[in-house]
Amino acid sequence: MIGHAVPYLIMLIAGGIALWRDAPYATLPILIMMVLWYSVRVYHVGGQSNSDKFEKDGGRERPLASLVGVGMTVLPVLALVLPPADLLAYSGFPGQLTSGVIIGLVGTYVFWCAHRDLGQNWSAHLEIREEHKLITAGIYGRVRHPMYSAIFLLTLSQTFMLTNWVAGPAGLVFFSLLYATRIRPEEAMMQDQFGQQWVDYASKTPRLIPKMTAN
Ligand code: SAH
Repeated sequence: MIGHAVPYLIMLIAGGIALWRDAPYATLPILIMMVLWYSVRVYHVGGQSNSDKFEKDGGRERPLASLVGVGMTVLPVLALVLPPADLLAYSGFPGQLTSGVIIGLVGTYVFWCAHRDLGQNWSAHLEIREEHKLITAGIYGRVRHPMYSAIFLLTLSQTFMLTNWVAGPAGLVFFSLLYATRIRPEEAMMQDQFGQQWVDYASKTPRLIPKMTAN
């Protein structure tokens, strides 16, 4: 559990440095949003064991998944603390920060719902657990990839809030690449594992944009 404290410490120190040096970004909203979604993840799957997982794609998408982490956390933190990164800063359009905050809050809420409903079936990579259950209830009754919807919203929110040409959109760019390469193998894996149950579920549940009424 101690390991989970390290990112909080880094965010605290980064925030202190960014405020002290008067970084040209909305330091507090950016960091608070990161703390929120990171906390959702730690709260739901922080102590998850790896022992019963079976990786289904040979770890092929791991490098890209790491880049998403770098784009969503490391680059924003570096932009906040390193003065040379200010060369890539720009002044946003009116309302850009507010839009970013609203998108981020919606994203955090969807992220929360997805983690709550997926529970221990969650994994960072394409894996099936020994007692894997197909989740079709809660937010999964409206959309089949709510976690990915949430990550699109969270990275879009970062793009809006962090007015840096590189660190702002990095998470969104890397996640879009990961999504594009992962979605077909993930759905094939689910069909392989759950057969007709998955086919029925997928046929009535949209991929990324939730429908109004649950299944
Ligand atoms: N794509 C989903 C889950 C992301 S986590 C979403 O965006 O919400 C990735 C893991 O979740 C996959 O390795 C798979 O094992 C598992 N998974 C995906 N959809 C699932 C579902 N409906 N029920 C149970 N597990 C699921």
